[in-house]
Parts: sequence; C-alpha cells; structure tokens
Amino acid sequence: MSEFPKSPLMGQMMNQPLLISSIIKHADRYYGSNEIVSRRVEGDIHRYTYRDCHKRSRQMANALASLGVKMGDRVATLAWNGYRHLELYYAISGSGAVMHTINPRLHPEQIAYIANHAEDQYLFFDLTFLPLVEAFAAHCKTVKGFIMMCDRDRMPAETKIPNLQCYEDLVASNSDQYEWPLFDENSASSLCYTSGTTGNPKGALYSHRSTVLHSYASAMPDALNVSARDSVLPVVPMFHVNAWGLPYSVPLTGAKMVFPGPALDGKSLFDLFEQEKVTFSAGVPTVWLGLLTYVGQNNLQFSSFKRTVIGGSACPPAMMKTFREKYNVEVVHAWGMTEMSPLGTTGTLQSHHLGLPPEQQTAVLEKQGHAIFGVDMKIVGDDGKELPWDGKTYGNLLVRGPWIISSYFKNEGGDVLEDGWFPTGDVATIDPDGYMQITDRSKDVIKSGGEWIGTIDLENIAMAHPLVQQAACIGVFHPKWDERPLLVVVKKPGAEVTKEELIQFYDGKIAKWWTPDDVTFVDALPIGATGKVLKNRIREQFKEYKLPTA
Ligand code: AMP
Repeated sequence: MSEFPKSPLMGQMMNQPLLISSIIKHADRYYGSNEIVSRRVEGDIHRYTYRDCHKRSRQMANALASLGVKMGDRVATLAWNGYRHLELYYAISGSGAVMHTINPRLHPEQIAYIANHAEDQYLFFDLTFLPLVEAFAAHCKTVKGFIMMCDRDRMPAETKIPNLQCYEDLVASNSDQYEWPLFDENSASSLCYTSGTTGNPKGALYSHRSTVLHSYASAMPDALNVSARDSVLPVVPMFHVNAWGLPYSVPLTGAKMVFPGPALDGKSLFDLFEQEKVTFSAGVPTVWLGLLTYVGQNNLQFSSFKRTVIGGSACPPAMMKTFREKYNVEVVHAWGMTEMSPLGTTGTLQSHHLGLPPEQQTAVLEKQGHAIFGVDMKIVGDDGKELPWDGKTYGNLLVRGPWIISSYFKNEGGDVLEDGWFPTGDVATIDPDGYMQITDRSKDVIKSGGEWIGTIDLENIAMAHPLVQQAACIGVFHPKWDERPLLVVVKKPGAEVTKEELIQFYDGKIAKWWTPDDVTFVDALPIGATGKVLKNRIREQFKEYKLPTA
C-alpha cells in the first residue's frame, strides 16, 4: 500500500474505521423488522429479520472465538445463498477473521488446493455438499474442524469427516452478548479465488475498507439502485465474488433479502420471485436463459420484478430486448471481475440520452457502461500508450480504484500492476461519454490476418436469431489468415436452422470479413463453475477443426 504525503492541516473528522460489522448493526437498528427469506437446502422456506440475523451472527462470532478463531484467520464456506451463509459473512469478517468463500462447483482436488493455499482453519458447508466434503476433507492440511450448516436432526450418523460439528448446536450454545471489535479498516475481510482457467486459481483478498466503499458505491441509483423499498433476490452466488457485494449493499440499504438456495431452475426462481414480490435481481446471462425459457413456455408474466443487473459475461442484446419488451423488466448491463470486488461499470442512461430515438438509447444500454465513482479506467495499446475514447479504437482495459486488488494473496504472480493500474485482460472501446464496451477477453480475440475480430459481437448477432439458444465463437487455424471465426451453436429446442441461414444472418450487420467461416451445431456449451461459457474448452474440442475455407 503506498503512502501519501500529509497536509500540514489535517481535517478534524472522526476517524471511524469502515468495518463490515457496521452494516449489520445499521440494518438491525434501522431496518430491524425487514425480512430475510431463504429457500433452504432442506426445501422449505425460512423467514426471519435483520434483527434475528444480527443476533445469530453475534452468537456465531462467540462460537468462532470458542473454536479459537483469531483475527486474520481464514474460515471457509461451501454454501448456497441462504441466511446461515449471511450470518457467517458478518460473524467471520465482523470478528476480524477472513471469510473465504469457496466455489462448490469446482473439482474436489481444486477445492483442497484452495483450502490449503488459504490455510483455512475451519470449513462450514451446506447439507448438499456432504459427499463433496467427504471427498476432499482428508486432503485439507490446516482445517481443524468442519461445521455442517443444518439442524441437529440432519447430521449424519456416521461420517469420514474429522471433527464434524453442527451449525445450530454452535449457535444455540453461545450467547448473543458480543461487541463487534474495532480495528484497522485495511484489515483483510474476505478472500475469493479467481476461476483460474489458466494455471492455479489466485486469491483476491478484500479489506473492510474496500468492501464498505464498494457497498456504498454499488448501491447508488446508476449502479445497482437498491433501496429500502426493494425486495432483492441475488441469483449470483455468494461463493462468486461475494454475490457482487449484495450481502453487504442490501442490508446497508435495508431492502428485503430473498435467497434462492440451491434451486436455480426457472420454475423455482419464478415461484420465489412471485411469492416474495421480488423487484430486483442480479445474475449471469446463463441463469436468465433458464428463467426466460420457463416463463416463455408457460406464458407467464412477472407481477413485481422491475429491474435486473446482468453481467459476468456479455449480456446478449436479444436477452435485454426480451426482458424489456416482453416482460417490462429493465436490464442494467454490468461489468466487473473478482479482482474488482467486482463492480466496475454499469450501463444506464443520462438525461441527455432521453431525447434520443429508442434504437440509439438501446445502443447505449447494450454497452457495459460507465465507471461507477471510485473506479478509474483507460485503454492502452500493446505498447502501453493510452488510446482515444472515440468508441471505435479498442485496446487493453486497465483499471484502478480503492476496491481493486493491488496484488494477489501471498503475492502469487508477483507484481501485477502496470504503473499503478490493474490490467483486466479484457479488450474494450470507450466512447466520448465514457461508456465502455468489451469487445473480448484478450485471450479469446480472433487474430485474422494481423487484425483482431472480437467474438462478443459475433455471438450477440447469432443469439439474436430466433432459432438460436446459445452461441460461442472461437478462432480456429487457417493457413492463410492464421485464425478465422467458427461459430458453435446450440439450437432452441425443436428448432431447425442451417449453417447457410446463420451465415446469411450476418449480412449487413458487421464487416464482411468478420463473418464466421463456418458454423457447427452442438447439444450444449461447456459452462464453468461461475456460469460462464468455457471458451478454452471449446477451443480444445475444435482444435483440429478444418474450415471449409482452409
Ligand atoms: P470473474 O472474475 O470470474 O468475475 O470474471 C471476470 C471477467 O468476466 C471479466 O474480466 C470479463 O472478461 C468477463 N465479464 C464480466 N462482466 C462482463 C460483461 N458484462 N461483458 C463481457 N464480459 C464480462
């Protein structure tokens, strides 16, 4: 952390550290009776209030102390979005330990690697993950005990897991008399590993200060726009970049919280949206595909759902259009990454856009958007020189700000910053108004005859075809051009469409030479642990592919 010079005249304001515990204290005091509703792993619906959550978090904080957990110790969770997970968010970080959320969709070996790398002291897990924990528990070198997040009657009679305890026993046997400690706001609060598509995953270690600042900024009207009148259902998992900060920003604003648990299929989500009058939600495009298919097939309409933030990968314009035109749901396109806590940009209109014709407004909204206050960004060429904000020139996207990492946990990968800026690995344009548009991940860009072809545009066009469910575009070897685009398509159920029809669909929509050379059909695209299409897996699958033009 760099030091800055001190002024001879310092401000005379209270020096109160920005701590995560202050969020749950605030939610209890000012929104104490507002609800947290969870679909439990056990299948039923659980309801309680912010006051109850705060009380049980304090009991859990005492439990952690009784287990010997100290400041800075890492405590892991393998859990869905639910009230017990939220209690841990506050009990662990609030008491000064570090909340380490692990993605349960990873392979058991990867989970053990991450738990050992983080030197986790305890590991909390949901009932669902009992077999998974049994598969890797013996390989965890630092974990002193495992805690199953369930009622006593769900505990297994026999298990291979060493020192297994019951969450509810721990809560019940501890007092709720607990004073959240005050400490330096730069102390580590939580740890989240990147998906690690290349090499081992690396840890982003957030601080109390970065988390509280991110919570303030992300709740603002042109960001997530959460208020005490909302009912918020985070579909994005609490094990993926802290559910985009919603476990902090929702209690901070006093909105009702609705947790879907493990039931992320279209029907379960729709039912919960309706029962709990959900107004706002957030998630990656692949999850919304399932919900939209269910709602469409059953001719349903949402009665309260008004707004959703979609990010994590590019939101296809066709999906935005369906939400807006068929269901009257506003889509806010957002971009960010694990290393950014995660929020960087959101796409919303400004007053000077309001007079524009609808197509031009839509074009603005389809971009990943403008930086939220606190995030600074720029695009540079391969030579590191800054490129113009003209909406056309694309370059490597660099960011900086108080909730962006300065280095990875344990300094993995060494010095990652370039002149104080974090290289995102994304390629983007920025227009004169500051709206950023991702053209690709730098490793996914197709390099054709010395020029770059961004795959997101090609995929968005394919997904706007009425018979296409999902599409991914990759570069495959071409003897003359080095690489040319191959479009990999999943058709909508029962749909028939030919490669010629799809290639023709690109006519007039992009430069001719960007048009995919070929189309191949598959039953499904490989999806990774955070719900994103795995391009490297598709490239591997088609690495011997012979293009008809080759
Ligand atoms: P993760 O750290 O797993 O959240 O992945 C971050 C990466 O996801 C970013 O660097 C982008 O490549 C991609 N990403 C996130 N949001 C978007 C978006 N709205 N459009 C395109 N790519 C995105």
